[in-house]
Amino acid sequence: MIRIKNDNLTQICNEFYENTKDYIKLDICNGKEKEYIQRNLKRIITCKPIDFEIILNEVRSKGLTVERLKKVFVGDDKYFSGYKKFSSKNTKSYNAYDLSTKLDVNVCPYCNRNYIHTVKSVNDKSTRPQFDHFICKKKHPIFAMSFYNLIPSCSICNSSIKGQSQFHYETHIHPYFDDFNKIKKFAIDKKLLSLVNKDDEFSIIFENKNGITTNEETKANNHIKDFALEALYECHKDKVLELIDISRAYNEASFENLVNEFAKSTQIFKDKNDVKRLMLCHHVEDENIDKRPLNKLIKDISEELDLI
Ligand SMILES: [Zn+2]
Repeated sequence: MIRIKNDNLTQICNEFYENTKDYIKLDICNGKEKEYIQRNLKRIITCKPIDFEIILNEVRSKGLTVERLKKVFVGDDKYFSGYKKFSSKNTKSYNAYDLSTKLDVNVCPYCNRNYIHTVKSVNDKSTRPQFDHFICKKKHPIFAMSFYNLIPSCSICNSSIKGQSQFHYETHIHPYFDDFNKIKKFAIDKKLLSLVNKDDEFSIIFENKNGITTNEETKANNHIKDFALEALYECHKDKVLELIDISRAYNEASFENLVNEFAKSTQIFKDKNDVKRLMLCHHVEDENIDKRPLNKLIKDISEELDLI
C-alpha cells in the first residue's frame, strides 16, 4: 500500500549479498546444481523481480530440483542454510535484524496499519518486522534469499492474511517498485461524507485516482483483495468519524487562528500544516505517508472533507 523509500537500497542489497552469500550451503547439491548456483549466486540474491522469470526458466531448463533448492535456500532445523540461518536469532553474525535496521521501514508497507520497528533491547527482548517472501518460497525456493523478494511487513499481513498466496511482479503491487498511493484513495460509500454520524451508516472503500493505467488498477485491486484491506479497514471507521467531527469543529480560519495565537507565546506551530498534524495526530504530506499507521486513510479522508 505504501511504497518503501530508501535512497541506499542498492548499497543495502550489496551488503546483504556480501554478508549472506556464505549462508547458502551447497553440500547436498550435485555437480550441475553446485556449478549453476556458484556461478549465479550474486545474480540470484541481488536480482530485481523483473528478472525472476528469467532465472526460473534457467532453473527449469537445468532440471534443478525444488526439494534440494529448498534445503539450500530456505534451510531447516537440520540443514542450517539460507533463510533459516539469516532469520535465526542464534545467528550472531549478520542476520534479519541487521537488514531490518538498515531498511528502517517502521510501518507495514502492505497495510499501513501496524508499526514494525526493529528494537533490540539489552536483555534480549527484541522485535523486528517479519520478512514476507513476495514470490512464495515454498513454490520457488531459489528466491528465498533474494533481497528484492524480502518485504518487511507485519505478522498479520505476512502470516495471517497473505500466507502462501501466489504473487507475481506483473499482477501484484511490489512495495519496492509500485506506488499504491498514486493509484487508489480511500473513500466511503456515501455521497456526503460530512453528514455521516455513526459507523453503521457507511463502509470504507477504495476509489481509483485519475490517470492510472489498466495494469496499475489490476495490481492495486489484487492488493486490496489479497490483503483483505476493505474488511480490515472496517475496524478503523472510528477514525473517519473523528475526522468528520474535526471538520465540523474547525475550518481554515480556525487553523490560522491557532498558528497566530501560539506564535505570540510558545511558537509551537510553524504553520497551518503543523496545527493539522497535531490535530489529526498524523502527517499530512505525501512524502511522510509511510511514517505512521493509518496515515493514508487519514490523509485521503481529510482531503475529502477539505481538512487539508
Ligand atoms: Zn501489514
